Amino acid sequence: MKKPILGIYSLTCCEGCQVELINLGERLLELFEIYNLGNFSWVEEKKDPKQFDVVLVEGSPMTEENFKTLRELRKKSKILVALGTCAHLGGIQKIKNYTENKKGDKVKMIYKDWRKIYDVNIDPISNIVKVDYVIPQCQINKEEAYKILVALATGRKPYILNRPVCYECQTNGYECLLQLGEPCLGPITLGGCGAVCLKSKRFCYGCRGPVKGIDPSKHLANLKKLVGEKYLKDVMETFGAEDEILGQAKDYDTNL
Ligand code: SF4
Ligand code: SF4
Ligand code: SF4
Repeated sequence: MKKPILGIYSLTCCEGCQVELINLGERLLELFEIYNLGNFSWVEEKKDPKQFDVVLVEGSPMTEENFKTLRELRKKSKILVALGTCAHLGGIQKIKNYTENKKGDKVKMIYKDWRKIYDVNIDPISNIVKVDYVIPQCQINKEEAYKILVALATGRKPYILNRPVCYECQTNGYECLLQLGEPCLGPITLGGCGAVCLKSKRFCYGCRGPVKGIDPSKHLANLKKLVGEKYLKDVMETFGAEDEILGQAKDYDTNL
């Protein structure tokens, strides 16, 4: 059987998700056994074949070239996967959208030739092209990425169990930070990270995006009473999850 062709590309980002793929070590070589490598700049020269079976896109489109690359990749790939929170939700750089910088004010303050700066809003790549699957998290969980890539190579539909971070937090016996008064997004955030932040006694900032099909309104209302709207917004905006969370909140009163 012909091996599927895999491409891995970065837009603007820290490339930490690709580093996590490298961290698979020998198992990355197993992936190269089941895929033909079309492009992965961290391990070999660019090949840029005409067609891909699977393309992973990491980062945010922030330059004209990024937008062009993303649209071209969509045309050239059968399956396009958003790799990591930047591609999935907008990531840390999406904080730009929530500040006055969206009007270009800071760009004008910083750059003399500010008119030459391509100053765009930060969007999930799904706002620009159709995305077939998501490998969530900042940075990605390499084990989850491995399983998803194996499923795609063998023609199976990959899936992530639709349960909250709390499940992994409590099965691991971590202390509940919500009960200590911290604005943890664990109850409304898609699990699969092993509750890694809670392990380090940091509350969940929702970097994997919300659990599908839930209404987070009640949890948000409780958190707002607990820490106030400004802090809650800051938490949701840290990884760019706010738009998705509020998009699912049918009954969240911002005037509470
Ligand atoms: S999701 Fe996180 S680790 Fe991955 S590219 Fe974005 S900032 Fe870097
Ligand atoms: S600390 Fe957060 S993730 Fe863990 S059980 Fe409490 S609310 Fe859930
Ligand atoms: S605990 Fe929350 S913020 Fe931390 S990795 Fe998991 S989903 Fe992301």
